[in-house]
Amino acid sequence: MIKKEVIYNGNEKQFFATDDPDKVIIRYKDVAVAFNNVKRARFEGKGELSNKISALLLGYLRDCGIRNHFIERVGDNEQLCRRIEILPIEVIVRNRVAGSLAARLGIEEGLKPDNLIVELRYNDDELDDPFINRDLAVALGLVSYAEIDGIVAEAKKANEVLKDLFHRIGIELVDVKLEFGRATDNGEIILSDEVSPDTSRLWDEQTGERLDKDRFRLDLSDVVASYRNVYERLTTVLKEN
Ligand code: 5GP
Repeated sequence: MIKKEVIYNGNEKQFFATDDPDKVIIRYKDVAVAFNNVKRARFEGKGELSNKISALLLGYLRDCGIRNHFIERVGDNEQLCRRIEILPIEVIVRNRVAGSLAARLGIEEGLKPDNLIVELRYNDDELDDPFINRDLAVALGLVSYAEIDGIVAEAKKANEVLKDLFHRIGIELVDVKLEFGRATDNGEIILSDEVSPDTSRLWDEQTGERLDKDRFRLDLSDVVASYRNVYERLTTVLKEN
């Protein structure tokens, strides 16, 4: 696969065209941003760890029947993926109340309801990713009802697979943000973007220690060490791909 020009330069990832119009190479940068780009910092080694973790998790999800854009890892910081027209919808699956949900409801982080909580947000930084629902997703012309229902069902399945996987390595999956899009080769809607400590909350089951991007958001230090901890635990149960 030949890497060609940059087609999109994001805050934390860079996208390159390849000699196949339906495939891209995604490069994970040593950068963290939070609170809609208000907070930003460089962390040596974060890009490699996020890439490797995301590759392991997307590969595992694929093995479990959850189709996604990941094809293979092609370097320490890079992975080859199917090209996707991303839908501007963030699907957040919550196993516990934490983060912005806890703040919004004025309750402490940690409430663990019996049911799953699924939130949909319209992905637009300038609007601060406002909440939408399935009717609005359809009204905005983003998806059909069948498509959004399929996306939510797939997100719940992915959450179950990831929750069980993390439990095997002593980590609780508190929540996860998933993004979907249409593959440019056949138009099917599949899981895309990344799945990593940047896009999920991961708490150590024994100590409650946060092993995710909240370390950066909340100035808790040891960001890279925590990502490495997650990566090393994952490699005890998953093979590199
Ligand atoms: P919250 O809404 O509680 O801040 O976030 C819920 C989950 O979605 C967390 O795991 C968080 O990391 C993820 N998340 C929500 N919005 C974003 C975003 O814009 N970027 C990233 N990387 N993750 C997000």
